[in-house]
Amino acid sequence: MSSNYRIAVIPGDGIGVEVMPEGLRALDAACKRFGIGLEYEYIEWASCAYYARHGQMMPDDWKAQLERCDAILFGAVGWPATVPDHISLWGSLLKFRREFDQYVNLRPARLFDGVPSPLAGRRAGDIDFWIVRENTEGEYSSVGGVMFEGTEREFVVQESIFTRHGSERVLKFAFDLAQRRARKTLTVATKSNGIAISMPWWDNCATRIAAQYPDVAWDKQHIDILCARFVLSPDRFDVVVATNLFGDILSDLGPACTGTIGLAPSANLDPERRFPSLFEPVHGSAPDIAGKNVANPIAMIWSAAMMLDFLGHGAGAERAAHDAILAAIEATLKQGPHTADLGGKASTTEIGRAIAERIAG
Ligand code: ATP
Ligand code: MG
Repeated sequence: MSSNYRIAVIPGDGIGVEVMPEGLRALDAACKRFGIGLEYEYIEWASCAYYARHGQMMPDDWKAQLERCDAILFGAVGWPATVPDHISLWGSLLKFRREFDQYVNLRPARLFDGVPSPLAGRRAGDIDFWIVRENTEGEYSSVGGVMFEGTEREFVVQESIFTRHGSERVLKFAFDLAQRRARKTLTVATKSNGIAISMPWWDNCATRIAAQYPDVAWDKQHIDILCARFVLSPDRFDVVVATNLFGDILSDLGPACTGTIGLAPSANLDPERRFPSLFEPVHGSAPDIAGKNVANPIAMIWSAAMMLDFLGHGAGAERAAHDAILAAIEATLKQGPHTADLGGKASTTEIGRAIAERIAG
């Protein structure tokens, strides 16, 4: 089979090393079934083990190595017992986001059959939406400082920076996504009743982009009531777009309403495909359960499915492979086996095998 895509495979630390083989097992089964060729480049750096040997998280030519790949599949990074998080994270993952201009952070919130939601009475199908977070600017700037430190007059300023280019491109991505969905509905998170300069400006950006999408029904909702509605009426959402800070909060709150963190996948995308995009589970390296073969590999497997779908522009054999992986996840959550986080006794490997068998058909 010819190779369609070259994938950088970075297991990282902790349970990243355990869930990655199950992600690849699912990919292999799906690609075999649908005739897609993947070539893996296994990477041992971007891990704390590499840091222990080399005193840095990555080799100097990391960017050149990754740029040769079409996408990056990432496990988890961090081992705070030996390397502080600010070193491991800033020395790897956050560099990818910035250097590869991965300006969209995309996460699904979806409730499956067989997974209890912390929201009483919610069933599969009640929660099924996407959160689009701006990933490069906004509230998370380091512009500002403390003045008159240690005196009565002490104060601090930190600026938010929203560029027209940065805001419009993420809004456009969200409208595009909503347009491809059955309900064609977009919610724009805002706070223009409190943040009186930047948020009305953000709302105007949304109105401008919305004019290009007459078939998408959209509205603006203030972040406070939006959080309440995620919990009280999650069924009303289809696609939600937010600036960096609000998106950070929403993209933890949404998936939290759908059960265990062991299921939640994410994508860091450069939609223009100038650079490789990165696909990773939302969870971290989970030192408390690492090395025991008990971690739930579904977040990793779903992330791998999102990667295929992105590579195939949401169509073709890649889309079919994505759908087959999702169907296998759905069946496994419904019928078992289950890992400990879902009340079962199955190992990471057993779940991975069960899903791969179902993908193979
Ligand atoms: P971060 O990477 O954001 O710093 P963290 O280190 O605080 O995250 P995680 O590593 O995600 O947190 O772990 C949080 C909790 O969730 C831990 O108790 C961990 O055991 C559990 N957990 C995380 N991932 C999984 C998984 N795949 N399966 C089962 N439990 C998990
Ligand atoms: Mg951590």
